[in-house]
Amino acid sequence: MDGLNKSMYQIGSDSAFSILARSNELLKTGKDVINLGIGQPDFPTPENVVNAAIKAIKDGHHGYTASNGILELRETVSWDFYKRNKVEVDPNDILIAPGGKAIIFYTLLMFGEPGSEIITPDPGFIAYRSMIDYTGAKAIALPHRMENNFSFDAEELLSLINKRTKLIILNSPANPTGGVVPKIELEKLAKGLLDYPNVYILSDEIYSRILFDNNEHVSLKSFPEISDRVIVLDGWSKTYSMTGWRLGYGIFPKNIYSYAEKLAINCHSCVNSATQFAGIEALKGDQTQVTNMIKEFKLRRDYLINELNSIENISCLKPGGAFYVFPKINKNQMNSAQISKFLLENKYVATVPGSSFGLNGENFLRVSYASSIKNLREFIMRLKSFMND
Ligand code: PLP
Repeated sequence: MDGLNKSMYQIGSDSAFSILARSNELLKTGKDVINLGIGQPDFPTPENVVNAAIKAIKDGHHGYTASNGILELRETVSWDFYKRNKVEVDPNDILIAPGGKAIIFYTLLMFGEPGSEIITPDPGFIAYRSMIDYTGAKAIALPHRMENNFSFDAEELLSLINKRTKLIILNSPANPTGGVVPKIELEKLAKGLLDYPNVYILSDEIYSRILFDNNEHVSLKSFPEISDRVIVLDGWSKTYSMTGWRLGYGIFPKNIYSYAEKLAINCHSCVNSATQFAGIEALKGDQTQVTNMIKEFKLRRDYLINELNSIENISCLKPGGAFYVFPKINKNQMNSAQISKFLLENKYVATVPGSSFGLNGENFLRVSYASSIKNLREFIMRLKSFMND
């Protein structure tokens, strides 16, 4: 022990980042690594967005802004949210943050404590579980099974709630599976939650624009019976290829907003101002690049699904959104961590083991197709050679 508080020994990490670091090491030694591990679009940020940031800097926007974000940006988020979800949101309920991850962090600091329970998707985004553990709360896994199209069953979810339950985390379209929760399940959930008026929901909608096959996004905020308990997380990272800019937002219920804002004041002060101006342009400006990116993702997804399902001992659902496929792989009794490690060290392909996302992710691999079709072809060749070895 090195004298830190006990919580520090509970916090986890994100294997996607350690895999990225190892891929970069291998690249430096001259290995031809294909990185399908990290979840970030391989497109540039749209030029109009870049120019808006440059203009903001040249116009002298160099200082702190309001901690919850500049009003024009919050108004633009409110306008965009209405356009997409037909739900009115007061700009004063919106908190601009350095990425959606900060919203997860703050929300879990607000709700998690020893003795409380937080229901979280399994498999699910790694940061949820890690931060729940950090707060001392107990993470309760909500299975998202392949048989259920990687969605959840509302009845099963409701059966996990008890008097210690403080928060439910949901994520659709989902990381790592690309699964989309059908509207009917959300309706059942919203109705069922009327029996649990003290339970809040963090709805992570960061992939809400990246949908295929006529899937439509349904925000959990659009259910009036629970909307005063829903925290929405969304942002620019995925939709506008802005992962490194660090820009996201949370919509918080009025009664808890000030606490989220205090966390922001104490932690990040504000998001850098030029990035916030870029965020306005991203939402208001031309959306052609977003449309084209989604078209391209769909082509890649379809290519991968066909190829993966043609390989013996691999089966893969066709995900309705995000930019991940989550194939189930059966190879010599190897677990997903062993397969992922072997693929990286011997075939120079980076993927993330499904078990990093929870027990229900075992035997799966997360493959991000935010990479060129040429790389995906090469990946399939290397994967086939691994499966045939
Ligand atoms: N939520 C999910 C489900 C994600 O996959 C990610 C990023 O991978 C985030 C939130 C955080 O995104 P950012 O902090 O870049 O906005």
